[in-house]
Amino acid sequence: MPARWKNDKPMSRLAFESRFSDEEACLHYLAEHRWPEGFVCPSCGICNGWPLKRNSATWECASCARQIFVTAGTVMHSSHLPLRIWFLAAHMVASIRNPLVLFLIGFTW
Ligand SMILES: [Zn+2]
Repeated sequence: MPARWKNDKPMSRLAFESRFSDEEACLHYLAEHRWPEGFVCPSCGICNGWPLKRNSATWECASCARQIFVTAGTVMHSSHLPLRIWFLAAHMVASIRNPLVLFLIGFTW
């Protein structure tokens, strides 16, 4: 099996801007990848929940009413930066092929 990092190419900037156009799109992406088979409550294990209407970054378990942040356990959770900025930074880093550029970004961010 070939190494993915050698063969996978990041999406174009245009495709990125289209797919992650706002916070909701980023939240949807995170939820899809956090719970690929659908929401699972970490407390009771029940597979039914929904995002809160007033804050779609938070999901509520249908059984125990525990509220779980989609970003919980990630570096994005305690950040005040919008998710879109995190996603953009990840896309930029993934798009860079020259390690010297990564070194220089460390000094400017
Ligand atoms: Zn629960």
